[in-house]
Parts: sequence; C-alpha cells; structure tokens
Amino acid sequence: MRPLYMVDTHSQYHRIKHQVDKAVLDVMESTAFINGRPVKEFSDHLAAYLGVKHVIPCANGTDALQIALMALGLQPGDEVITPSFTYIATTEVIALLKLTPVFVEVDPRTFCIDPAAIEKAITPKTKAIVPVHLYGQSANMEAILKVAEEHRLYVVEDNAQAIGCNFHFSDGTSKKTGTIGHIGCTSFYPSKNLGAFGDGGAMCTNDDALAEKLKMIANHGQKERYYHEMVGCNSRLDSIQAAILDVKLNHLDAYCTARQEAAAYYDRAFANTASVITPHKADYSDHVYHQYTIALEGVNRDAFKARLDKTGVPSMIYYPVPAHKQKMFEQFGVGQLELPLTSWLTERVISLPIHTEMDEEQLQFITDTVLSIL
Ligand SMILES: *Cc1c(COP(=O)(O)O)cnc(C)c1O
Repeated sequence: MRPLYMVDTHSQYHRIKHQVDKAVLDVMESTAFINGRPVKEFSDHLAAYLGVKHVIPCANGTDALQIALMALGLQPGDEVITPSFTYIATTEVIALLKLTPVFVEVDPRTFCIDPAAIEKAITPKTKAIVPVHLYGQSANMEAILKVAEEHRLYVVEDNAQAIGCNFHFSDGTSKKTGTIGHIGCTSFYPSKNLGAFGDGGAMCTNDDALAEKLKMIANHGQKERYYHEMVGCNSRLDSIQAAILDVKLNHLDAYCTARQEAAAYYDRAFANTASVITPHKADYSDHVYHQYTIALEGVNRDAFKARLDKTGVPSMIYYPVPAHKQKMFEQFGVGQLELPLTSWLTERVISLPIHTEMDEEQLQFITDTVLSIL
C-alpha cells in the first residue's frame, strides 16, 4: 500500500510536475519575483473561476483576514461576531486590531457558525460577522446575510478551507463561497484545497471601493508609489507561488471531486456504525472536504487515536481547544463563557486522512482499521 498521510502533497505534485516545474523555471528566468506577470494572471483567473469582480492576492490567509478587517474602518472596541470553533487565525486578527471578538456557537452538525446565535449576540457595538466555512462546507450564508442586512453589519467570510465550494440560495441561484459577503478571505497554505508551495492568500470582493482599499492596505497604504494615504502593511503573493497556483487552479474542480469521492467512501463505510457521526451535508452547500471530520459518540477519543497511530493511520484533532478558552483571549474575560455545543464538538471530533490522491486500498485499510478499533 502507498504510505498514508493526512494530505499527500508529494503525490499531487508528481502528477503535474512538468507543468509546475516549467511555470517555476519561467519565473526564475524572468526574475520578476515580486508582482510579476503570474500574479496578475492568477488573480484574474481566480476571479473568473470564482465569479467575483476583484481578487487581491496577499501573503497568507491570516493577512487576508487582517487586511479585510482593516479595510472596514472599524474602531477599537467594535465587536466582531465569530465562531469559537475555528482555527486561531480567524479570531486572532480581531484581537490584533484591538477589536473585540464575540464568540458564538456553531451548528453541531455542520460545524459552522449558527445564524440564530449570531442574532442573539448582536449589540449596538457589533460591526461585523466573520463566518468560517469550516472543513470545506459553507456556513448558512443566506441566513447570515439576512441578519447582517437587518443590522447593517459587514460580513467577512473565512474561506480558507472551502475554496471551490458552492453555496445554493433558496431562489435556486448559487455562488462560490468567499464571494457572498462583503469580503472573502482565503489561504493557499500548502495543505489547503488550492495549496501553493509556500505561503499565500487572497481577498475577494465585488465592491470596487473596498477592492481599492484592500489593495492599498496590502501595499503600505499607497496607490501611487511613495505617497502613503493610510497605515497599511506589506503583504504580497510571490510570483513563483502565483505561477504554481495558476497551474493548480486548472485542477481545482478535479481536486474537489477527488476529495468528495474519498468522503463518499468513508460515508458508506461508517453508515451503520452508531458511534461514528459522519459529516452532515447541508442542502444549501456543497462540501469540498478540506477535512473529513467525524464526531465519536461513546468512544474514548484518546485511546482511539492512539490505536490509529499504532496501526499507522494518521489522524488529527481540529481543534482541541476552542478559541474562547485560549489564554490569548483571557483579556476579554471569555474563559467562563458557556458554549456547550462547541465544547461537545471539541471533545469528540477527529479528522481522518483526506486528499486528492487517495486510492481504494488506502481507504479500505483506514476504514477497516477504524471499524476494527470501534
Ligand atoms: C489556514 C486557515 C487560516 C490561515 O491561513 P494561513 O495562510 O495559514 O495564514 C485562516 N482560517 C482558517 C479557517 C484556516 O484553516
């Protein structure tokens, strides 16, 4: 059997090695390492793929979230509603900008922020919502937009895990995640569904004025060179990364399908096992399975994981500690906040290997191992 990894970027590279190598060598020959042609080309291609007016590339997904929030003109102490059950980057940038993170519950079936919980958390200080399309499935954006419009709030989507995913509105129309709120943020971290060979990120928007501002902030607050209108930062996508991403973008739909096929295998294998809660598929969203995350019911997760480790089946806990319990946020006095659904998930979730290169032999070995332990 081919070796098992949580994500097999090596095999994925080797299937398109000649295309990637040529793209990289072309950039090396051009020596236009910063803001070279591939950066513009990739941004344009990604905008066309997503069906969004503007794509502004940047250095990583965390920067994308930070720059997005900087562009909204919020004041220190303004409240930003976000799930606690997410990767730390989502919530960290809120605190970094001296804004106040307001942590709310997720829907325990979809793992994404609960629109009803958002509504309950709104105060006169609330200015924005940052939903996370966790594990590759969209949050309920239609319900979130409704709340946001009613209360005049900004919506910044954390789309780091769901690039390529479609959200389906009740009127029958669909949009790609990351293009639905005011700004969508994504990451090209190597293990993400569209992964670079290093760091990278991007912001999307259909708003011309916001696009201009995002571009300026990512470039030291300047439009015209050496004339700095606002405090910004330096956040760029390298030409080499853009060239690689431009190659890989052509394969993104196939990558999503490969992940969905692996997930379908897992779903079938675990369908009759009461102790395994398989990922729920909401009718309003596709699922592009950045992770295949199950919840274990009535199982000692540590012992289960230890036995997987011993058999050579990789697994990960995303995420063992919810944001509101992190020491980082003690300053906000949220340690005692009760988020029972988030706690329930934190104690039960475990993610199994999923990537674009899985074969049936590997899937069978993993599912047989899981079932034999249970
Ligand atoms: C990966 C990730 C980020 C951050 O992306 P980086 O490129 O690593 O900075 C933000 N949010 C979520 C949900 C992520 O999974």
